Amino acid sequence: MSKKAVINIKKCDQSPFCPVKRVCPAGAVTQNKKGFFRADAPKIDKDKCTGCGICLKVCPMGAVKIS
Ligand code: SF4
Repeated sequence: MSKKAVINIKKCDQSPFCPVKRVCPAGAVTQNKKGFFRADAPKIDKDKCTGCGICLKVCPMGAVKIS
Protein backbone atom coordinates (compact mmCIF):
# COMPACT_ATOMS: atom_id res chain seq x y z
CA MET A 1 0.00 0.00 0.00
CA SER A 2 1.31 3.48 -0.84
CA LYS A 3 2.33 5.83 1.95
CA LYS A 4 0.05 8.64 3.08
CA ALA A 5 0.37 11.78 5.17
CA VAL A 6 -0.76 11.52 8.79
CA ILE A 7 -1.24 14.36 11.28
CA ASN A 8 -0.06 13.92 14.86
CA ILE A 9 -2.84 15.62 16.80
CA LYS A 10 -0.62 16.04 19.85
CA LYS A 11 1.85 18.19 17.90
CA CYS A 12 -0.70 20.15 15.82
CA ASP A 13 -1.40 23.67 17.14
CA GLN A 14 -4.82 23.71 15.42
CA SER A 15 -4.14 27.06 13.80
CA PRO A 16 -6.91 28.26 11.45
CA PHE A 17 -4.07 29.57 9.25
CA CYS A 18 -2.65 26.06 8.77
CA PRO A 19 -0.31 26.07 5.73
CA VAL A 20 -0.72 22.33 5.23
CA LYS A 21 -4.19 22.68 3.78
CA ARG A 22 -3.08 25.51 1.48
CA VAL A 23 -0.19 23.68 -0.17
CA CYS A 24 -1.71 20.25 -0.77
CA PRO A 25 -1.91 19.86 -4.57
CA ALA A 26 -4.44 17.06 -4.22
CA GLY A 27 -6.92 19.00 -2.11
CA ALA A 28 -6.71 16.22 0.46
CA VAL A 29 -6.60 18.45 3.55
CA THR A 30 -9.71 19.93 5.14
CA GLN A 31 -10.21 21.80 8.39
CA ASN A 32 -13.25 22.89 10.38
CA LYS A 33 -13.03 26.49 11.50
CA LYS A 34 -14.55 27.49 14.82
CA GLY A 35 -14.20 31.23 14.35
CA PHE A 36 -11.50 33.55 13.04
CA PHE A 37 -8.82 32.42 15.50
CA ARG A 38 -9.92 28.88 16.28
CA ALA A 39 -10.09 25.66 14.31
CA ASP A 40 -9.94 21.91 14.65
CA ALA A 41 -6.84 20.03 13.59
CA PRO A 42 -6.84 19.47 9.83
CA LYS A 43 -7.90 16.13 8.43
CA ILE A 44 -6.20 14.34 5.55
CA ASP A 45 -8.33 12.31 3.16
CA LYS A 46 -6.33 9.14 2.59
CA ASP A 47 -8.14 8.46 -0.68
CA LYS A 48 -7.03 11.82 -2.12
CA CYS A 49 -3.52 11.98 -0.60
CA THR A 50 -0.79 10.97 -3.07
CA GLY A 51 1.96 10.87 -0.43
CA CYS A 52 3.91 13.63 -2.21
CA GLY A 53 5.31 14.95 1.09
CA ILE A 54 4.92 18.68 0.36
CA CYS A 55 2.85 19.19 3.50
CA LEU A 56 5.64 17.83 5.74
CA LYS A 57 7.87 20.71 4.71
CA VAL A 58 5.41 23.48 5.54
CA CYS A 59 3.98 22.41 8.90
CA PRO A 60 5.64 24.70 11.49
CA MET A 61 4.92 22.21 14.26
CA GLY A 62 6.38 19.16 12.52
CA ALA A 63 3.02 17.50 13.04
CA VAL A 64 2.78 15.73 9.69
CA LYS A 65 4.55 12.53 8.77
CA ILE A 66 4.30 10.02 5.96
CA SER A 67 3.59 6.48 6.99
S1 SF4 B 1 1.40 14.19 1.17
FE1 SF4 B 1 0.90 15.57 -0.58
S2 SF4 B 1 -1.12 14.88 -1.32
FE2 SF4 B 1 -0.83 14.02 0.78
S3 SF4 B 1 -1.80 15.53 2.17
FE3 SF4 B 1 0.41 16.04 2.02
S4 SF4 B 1 0.52 17.59 0.34
FE4 SF4 B 1 -1.48 16.54 0.17
